[in-house]
Amino acid sequence: MNFGSKLIHNGNEIDKNTGALSIPIYQTSTFHQYDIDNLGKYDYTRSGNPTREALENTIAQLEGGIRGFAFSSGMAATSSVLSIFSSDDHIIVGNDVYGGTYRIASSFFNKFKVQITFTDMTDPDNIKNSIKNNTKAIFLETPSNPLLKITDLRTCIKIAKDYGLIVIVDNTFMSPYLQRPLELGADIVIHSATKFIGGHSDVVSGLVATKNKDLADKIYFVQNSFGAVLGPQDSWLLLRGLKTLKVRLDYECKSALELAQWLSTHKKITNVYYPGLKEHIGSDIHLSQALNGGAVLSFKTDTEATAKKFMKNVTLAAVAVSLGGVESIASYPVKMSHAAIPVQEREKLGITNNLIRLSVGLEDTQDLIEDFKKALE
Ligand SMILES: *Cc1c(COP(=O)(O)O)cnc(C)c1O
Repeated sequence: MNFGSKLIHNGNEIDKNTGALSIPIYQTSTFHQYDIDNLGKYDYTRSGNPTREALENTIAQLEGGIRGFAFSSGMAATSSVLSIFSSDDHIIVGNDVYGGTYRIASSFFNKFKVQITFTDMTDPDNIKNSIKNNTKAIFLETPSNPLLKITDLRTCIKIAKDYGLIVIVDNTFMSPYLQRPLELGADIVIHSATKFIGGHSDVVSGLVATKNKDLADKIYFVQNSFGAVLGPQDSWLLLRGLKTLKVRLDYECKSALELAQWLSTHKKITNVYYPGLKEHIGSDIHLSQALNGGAVLSFKTDTEATAKKFMKNVTLAAVAVSLGGVESIASYPVKMSHAAIPVQEREKLGITNNLIRLSVGLEDTQDLIEDFKKALE
């Protein structure tokens, strides 16, 4: 079955108890036990809930895993996955991972003596050079944020396997429709489902999928004991959002490519970062591991003043953090997602004050172009 059909028919779309075509929101904390000698499948919602379970089984199917987990945010998902490691374990993390991931890796898990090395994984040799005796895993994100840098998943996975390391991929920017790292050999995939999976800017949530039984048991232990679970109502919102993932992304990615091409020709735009453009560094690698360039792009304007003018005058994109919604969202990384990084460090990474990131929504492409044209004038 192809992906679009799988979104609608994956075995978790009908409520087994009632036949309801929309999985009911089992808004309950606990479950009556009819027979104390034969306890039922569910006992308490932190440990398991039918609405959440339908979502967890769905993400497992869509990513090609054996088990899925839903958490109260993308960061809860990432933190819970990193909690399967122990003190003195060493993890290699991409140096331009999501800011929140950088924060917990650099100033939270170190309290528990989990060792982290940050490195630029766009050059996979850096992984080899960072491996120590106690290295247990690599954690990466591709394309990265906000410059859409590309990491070669197959090469990184091959190196990790040679050294017996677990590969964890934050797949938020692509979603399982565009990129499925488990199918390429990764062990764990993480999503901020707040973004494309939810798709409507109305829920904060995280998902995890794995294809390894031992890792699944470890993640379930953390999910149940740490307890950062997703509630039934929010689980339902994700099940609903997921059904249109393909049609949303088909339109948004096509629109993003057209916008990237149009921006490339604009005289006030100096750089466009979009993995669907042939001239984007690593675009060939990206297109060998993902379906298309995705729905997020970044661009640099001639001056900081132009960038600020754009952010002030744009009307068809919300000025906000986050991405992946039905509405386009323009963000200004130096004042938003990357404000906490010291200026010099930021400049080194190419995150300058003329950089704008755009998440392309479902507005008519031509309307977006007209609006952006005006905002840049
Ligand atoms: C937003 C985001 C996160 C964090 O997810 P939350 O749902 O905000 O906690 C993690 N990784 C990436 C790539 C993101 O864009």
